[in-house]
Amino acid sequence: MNEIPEGTGKQEPKAMEFTKCPACGSIKRLSTCLIDKLKAKGWARAEFECSEVKLIVIMDPIMQNLIPMGSQIPAMEIRMDICLGCGCQYAIKVTETSARVSPPPTKMPSAN
Ligand SMILES: [Zn+2]
Repeated sequence: MNEIPEGTGKQEPKAMEFTKCPACGSIKRLSTCLIDKLKAKGWARAEFECSEVKLIVIMDPIMQNLIPMGSQIPAMEIRMDICLGCGCQYAIKVTETSARVSPPPTKMPSAN
């Protein structure tokens, strides 16, 4: 694990990177393999990166209605990939971020 040092400002995100599969130790990953093939053909920029991203937001359901709309709440952005050594899906980068509180989705009236 490589921990990226926290910035000096309060808004700087804190992040952790995992360069090896936690199960088998392989560094070969599905997205890197596919992106390397694109780069070999000249169909992706050298700096191009891509992986599945999940945003994890945790809210206390009892307190949820007390938090003003638009407030920033702590969240985690998780970049996932799949190990080509054993097939294990694991987090390659975890970044502290924030999410904005938005109103719950409204249901469209059904056409019955
Ligand atoms: Zn593995």
